[in-house]
Amino acid sequence: MITLHDVYEQGNDTVRAAVLAFGTRHPVGPDGPDAEPDWKQAERCFTRIIETIMGSAAPPPPGSTDGPVRRAENSAVGFLLAANTRPDYRCPICVKRQRPPL
Ligand SMILES: [Zn+2]
Repeated sequence: MITLHDVYEQGNDTVRAAVLAFGTRHPVGPDGPDAEPDWKQAERCFTRIIETIMGSAAPPPPGSTDGPVRRAENSAVGFLLAANTRPDYRCPICVKRQRPPL
């Protein structure tokens, strides 16, 4: 399965901008203008997005490079691009993981 880093390396400028934007949705510390992206968390969320698209939390079978995985990866990149058109979107995985602040 591809990683967020792979997407960045292989992508064009638009894709790279979307990857960076996704990273900034995962600050290491409290939100702030100087918050560094938590890339490990962003990678985990990106993997979860691909898994969710595939309709299963289970890892793919060994050696699997077949269609469903590739399609899910492409869809995940498409999600990043679509979400990046929204000025203040939140990572859907983090929204599930965290309780809303009240
Ligand atoms: Zn997230």
